[in-house]
Amino acid sequence: MEDCIFCKIVRKEIPSQVVYEDDRVLAFKDINPLAPVHILIIPKEHLTNVLDIHEDNVDLIGHIHLVANKIARDTGIAEKGFRIVTNCNKEGGQIIFHLHYHLIGGEELRNFA
Ligand code: IMP
Repeated sequence: MEDCIFCKIVRKEIPSQVVYEDDRVLAFKDINPLAPVHILIIPKEHLTNVLDIHEDNVDLIGHIHLVANKIARDTGIAEKGFRIVTNCNKEGGQIIFHLHYHLIGGEELRNFA
């Protein structure tokens, strides 16, 4: 997607602090971290949000969870605990309309649900 900020990050047109990359997934530090560890994990392919997940890309979503698992271990937040969040559409708090998973941890997180 031409104007999508996360597609631009994937294409390295906008700088980011990459913590993991492979052929399908990119993970980078959130520019406005809500906790000591706050990483965004995105598919390189442009999907708008979870409503764009279908049978033909469900394997990609499983892969994203494996990547989240690895990053949680590598950053040291796995043992104590962490959160994975994805916001969907405006009322769900989505600001960037490229599917992304927030991996958040490194401190005691408040329960909101
Ligand atoms: P959303 O509310 O789930 O769409 O979250 C979007 C997230 O993207 C927010 O946590 C922002 O801080 C983050 N963000 C926006 N632009 C950038 C950027 O250029 N680099 C890294 N994170 C970004």
